[in-house]
Amino acid sequence: MDDLERPSPKGMALRRPSLQPRTRPRVRPPVPTLPRRHTPVDMAWADTGTLCSLALRPPLLSKVLSLYGTSLVVTEAVATEIRRLASVPEARRTADTRLLCTGADSIARHLDAGDIKELPLPTSDDTFNTFDKLDQVLRQLREIDAAAAERSGRSVDRVGSAHRHAGEAHSIVSALRTIAFGRRTLLLTNDGGAMAVAVRNAVPVKHVGHLLAELACHDENVNADQLFDAFTQITRKFATVPMQHQPKDEKSFNCVMKGGSCRLCD
Ligand SMILES: [Zn+2]
Repeated sequence: MDDLERPSPKGMALRRPSLQPRTRPRVRPPVPTLPRRHTPVDMAWADTGTLCSLALRPPLLSKVLSLYGTSLVVTEAVATEIRRLASVPEARRTADTRLLCTGADSIARHLDAGDIKELPLPTSDDTFNTFDKLDQVLRQLREIDAAAAERSGRSVDRVGSAHRHAGEAHSIVSALRTIAFGRRTLLLTNDGGAMAVAVRNAVPVKHVGHLLAELACHDENVNADQLFDAFTQITRKFATVPMQHQPKDEKSFNCVMKGGSCRLCD
């Protein structure tokens, strides 16, 4: 299913609960209940892959930054990861990492300029225990790694897994705290595991394809073909959106705004 489209009520009614016992955690796809059009939030927590992929199209990055304004934020863990990638010297960039590092160069400049704010992991208080939540979210992210490793016959690198998930885990926990304080939030990630964990914790999530689709409804200077092409190009080498969540064609980026409303985007 293309998750830029909404599920049909008919399709949902046909889904029957399974009577088989579950032997491993099930990873469900994000539930696309959010409108395609940009809806203002208080905090949109972006991860490394989403920002660095968007940075490969600077004009589109700056349109997204102006659409989100100060609501687009990163955790310190994500900022650290982006700066680490940006600090890799040219000579040590490989065919696999070069584009990611190029994206990180650009995002690091935006971080330094303060266009994208970096926020520390929230401290615990009576209503929200940050470290319990962090343990829980990391455990869920690792379960997904382990399930993927099992399917492909690989062994799980537990230390690598914990390190790799720091940015995603901190972003999800920060989003959970935003919700706990009754404010509107969004996780911006292209990673299938992070999407699944966000949904499991009732955190709304969008990937870079959704961000580009939001532009279609806000900016008459971009068109659906151009956005679909950008999506395909910027997620080809890294930050690849899982197949089942990818927009399949330019229709996912159409907008039919008329008289201030749009039946496709609202
Ligand atoms: Zn629209």
